[in-house]
Amino acid sequence: MRIPLIAGNWKMNKSVTEARSFIEAVQGKLPAADVVETAIAAPALFLQTMLDANRDQVLRVAAETCYYEDEGAYTGETSPKALHEMGIPYTIVGHSERRRYFNETDDVINRKVLAVLRNGMTPIVCCDETMGRRESGEKIHWVVNQVSAALKGVSLEDAAKIVVAYEPSWAIGSGTSASSDQAEEGCYLIRQTLADIYSDEVANGVRVLYGGSVKPDNIAGLMKRDNVDGVLAGGSSLDEHSFIQLANYQN
Ligand code: 13P
Repeated sequence: MRIPLIAGNWKMNKSVTEARSFIEAVQGKLPAADVVETAIAAPALFLQTMLDANRDQVLRVAAETCYYEDEGAYTGETSPKALHEMGIPYTIVGHSERRRYFNETDDVINRKVLAVLRNGMTPIVCCDETMGRRESGEKIHWVVNQVSAALKGVSLEDAAKIVVAYEPSWAIGSGTSASSDQAEEGCYLIRQTLADIYSDEVANGVRVLYGGSVKPDNIAGLMKRDNVDGVLAGGSSLDEHSFIQLANYQN
């Protein structure tokens, strides 16, 4: 059984004080991790404060990105080895904003996926889809290519541990989510690609998330779909009340 994963991605928002008060506010208000797992990916500079404030340890504190080398002369970068040592279980890799603003290519994303796995963490691998590509009917090709490129050289055993997120950039920050049919279609395509590359068993075990304008009032419809195992929420994960509502979507 795939345990749902409700994850937030704060992006470059909040201060360290705000991050701490968010974590304090959600203590005791999130579902048990073996029923619905919850995570917040935050800037690296808040992670230790968040871990310290996370007394009940139900919420997973995650990173938004990291570098693909473990250590060395890479000024300003975040080491996956150091993240693992802090106790960070998940790192987002290949978000569309990293692809667009920081020129992350499929090759860089692949190296990061390998680095995260090598350091004992789980990558949340994001797949983008632009409206231009959707309208040109190129979607299938594009999603399949991104998944295959990101997972190049990833063993079957490691592939079984990853999380993939379908995040159409036309829905991110737009206020309008993909419909539940569109989210299901994207997540299904990703699962099929995993089945083609690895096996049905791997594909059926991997959690595939949908991201793009997920809010408390549309999450239930998305989570009803067979291939949507969770969400990656940006804006609506910033407010603690709204994140608590997302996490408790089953109630
Ligand atoms: P929004 O929920 O703000 O659309 O952002 C989605 C996202 O990019 C999550 O990674």
